[in-house]
Amino acid sequence: MLDKQIERMKKELDAKEIFNIAKQSAYEYLDSIFTRDVYPKQEDLAKLSAFDEELKSDGCNPDEILKMLNDIGSPNTVMQTGPKYFGFVNGGALPVCQGVKWITDVWDQNAVLNVTSPISAKIEEVCERWLVDLLHLPKETVAGFVTGSSNASFCALAAARNYQLKQAGWDAQKDGLFLAPSIKIYMSEDAHATIIKTLYMLGFGERNMVKLKSDSQGRIIVDGIPSEIEPNSIFVLQAGNVNTGAYDDIYSIAKIAKRHNCWIHIDGAFGLWAVASQKLKHNLKGIELCDSWSVDAHKTLNVTYDCGIVLCKNESALVSAMQARGDYIIHSAERDNMIYTSDMSRRARGFELWAALKYLGKSGVEELVNRLHSNTVYFADKLGKLGFEILNHITFNQLIVSYRDDKTTENILKEIQKDNVCWCGGTKWKGKSAIRISICNWSTTFSDIDLCVESFDRGRE
Ligand SMILES: *Cc1c(COP(=O)(O)O)cnc(C)c1O
Repeated sequence: MLDKQIERMKKELDAKEIFNIAKQSAYEYLDSIFTRDVYPKQEDLAKLSAFDEELKSDGCNPDEILKMLNDIGSPNTVMQTGPKYFGFVNGGALPVCQGVKWITDVWDQNAVLNVTSPISAKIEEVCERWLVDLLHLPKETVAGFVTGSSNASFCALAAARNYQLKQAGWDAQKDGLFLAPSIKIYMSEDAHATIIKTLYMLGFGERNMVKLKSDSQGRIIVDGIPSEIEPNSIFVLQAGNVNTGAYDDIYSIAKIAKRHNCWIHIDGAFGLWAVASQKLKHNLKGIELCDSWSVDAHKTLNVTYDCGIVLCKNESALVSAMQARGDYIIHSAERDNMIYTSDMSRRARGFELWAALKYLGKSGVEELVNRLHSNTVYFADKLGKLGFEILNHITFNQLIVSYRDDKTTENILKEIQKDNVCWCGGTKWKGKSAIRISICNWSTTFSDIDLCVESFDRGRE
């Protein structure tokens, strides 16, 4: 029985039919990136019920599986690799990353240890070095490669928590958290949802969080920071608010926080990359004064999912918070990727990041960042001329707009989504309904934006 199963799979590998079918489907998809609908049609969504089948006793052939995905799955994808998707903060995918993903998926490396994959360890070591250089971080900064900024913040804030507890004479790993000294988290009232989630997961509650007042853009009001800061606390600052794109005044706040021996974490999911641009790096003044940073390569950098990065200046604080002991774990004298993250086994996402950085180079990253910014300025200008109210100062690649009252804005958003030329989501900004436009795709041009603006215009009617 087993032999028959092995025989069947080997034959499939020999024939390479699976790969040929996959390649064919992928090419079809790639050819349609610039032309297909941004969002699935109702009639295609209805076909998703074909997946509601019972798990059968007998399996089926690979070609049937691939065909089902191609025929029913593909029309139900959201065209976020195309130039007219502006939802959430979803990056596109550089072709080189997709190519590298194909090859390295066949390698199927487990990036946990050097001994499980020397190439993954080497590539992540190189990515770490390049990122520290590109992002102007302290030289001793280490990097762990994780699913996204949520997990990156989780790892960084675990390190921060244990480090600050240690300063208070408490060993979290020995004594646990339940009777531990209290630690305060100073953060914006507009901190990202994932920061709150992460803090909950790390044993912090609302009573530990000091939510600092923010201005109309979501920036912490520096003068509003209480003069009594608890020593050895943690500050969480934003380099890019998810709605406005605004940056906290990192330099001024870091100066205050450091006087009280606080750990400063930067949530820079999409916005940290702006430091690579001469034109935009002023937003990140003081970035090197901080202790940890979280950032996503799958957003601004257009690396394929999933690729988040935790960066931490104090290597031993991160490594100690992420430690896992086991007699069977073989550590090497070189880099072992697992010591920097909460995962053990995982995919080797460093390959795609490395490819993006090598492909773009420093000037290519700068050009990409600047293009996202100038697209956003262009989009805002066009919408302003149509009578939309621009609710944010354009710092980088986020744009939020409204039209007259909440109800009209919400209706226009519905019409835009129905029109299906582009896709935007909605939000509430300081109590006001808004349309969110997040420009994250390498391929978006001014003429794409012109088409989208026409759709906004139709939406008003
Ligand atoms: C996207 C985002 C996150 C969460 O990142 P994931 O990669 O989705 O986990 C956190 N903070 C900000 C500002 C973001 O834009």
